[in-house]
Amino acid sequence: MSLRGKAAIVTGSTSGIGLGIVRALAKEGADILLNGLGRSADVAELQKSIAKDNDVRVAYSNADMSKASAILAMVDCATQELGHVDILVNNAGIQFTAPVQEFPDDRWDAIISINLSAAFHATKAVLPQMLDRNWGRIINVASTHGLVASVEKSAYVAAKHGVVGLTKVVALETAKSGVTCNAICPGWVLTPLVQKQIEDRAQHDHVAVADAKHDLLAEKQPSEEFATPEQLGALALFLCSDAAAQIRGAALPVDGGWIAQ
Ligand code: NAD
Repeated sequence: MSLRGKAAIVTGSTSGIGLGIVRALAKEGADILLNGLGRSADVAELQKSIAKDNDVRVAYSNADMSKASAILAMVDCATQELGHVDILVNNAGIQFTAPVQEFPDDRWDAIISINLSAAFHATKAVLPQMLDRNWGRIINVASTHGLVASVEKSAYVAAKHGVVGLTKVVALETAKSGVTCNAICPGWVLTPLVQKQIEDRAQHDHVAVADAKHDLLAEKQPSEEFATPEQLGALALFLCSDAAAQIRGAALPVDGGWIAQ
């Protein structure tokens, strides 16, 4: 499959799952707009190496996904630098855990804006050009927490259920076009976002980090193995293929059996 001539925005792609998806799309020839936080020297190095390894153009926007105006500027930047936007992967996300009655208001607002509202603003901004060309792929990185809940994750679970709902609406509104919209629902993937949860758990339970890692997996993910950014990149790539043209509004788990229980 070739994505040469196509251009993709992947939000939150300086690390973890987003970077895994970028690597998969670039390997098939897609031009990329990277987005996310990070030291500018590290981002510049990443930009250079992805461009060189895959012979593709790689732009970067440091847009803050909590700000609608920055998201619009990011889409403008991609359109100007890469010519068009054919693939949008809404991936940027943050986490915070606390019981509802102790959950800080500012963390609730940040999680809803970065994990949910950003996907709405970016989708709204790219859809007109995708519909004009009658081809597009919108892929939302939701979570198993878009399908089931866990304690102490009120904002995250609310946001990710919202992302799955948004995915279905966009899929219905584009159903008669060449634009598709789907969600990927990862279980545990060993990224900086989860490493912090493992370290918090080790501290809370007074156990070694290796034991906390095992306990975290064993509690939810029957395979007791992490899903990987490479596996998620491969699924995103499949969703961009012609074979996936009739997958619309789906929420696809990659979760070692988590939600089968
Ligand atoms: P990560 O921390 O490695 O990556 C998050 C990315 O989002 C980084 O590039 C970061 O710079 C960026 N980001 C954070 N805040 C931002 C902001 N305000 N503006 C722009 N970019 C911002 O985490 P990850 O695990 O790769 O998470 C990626 C996505 O996958 C998230 O939406 C997360 O909810 C989801 N997810 C992760 C797991 C997991 O187990 N790791 C499971 C299910 C879903």
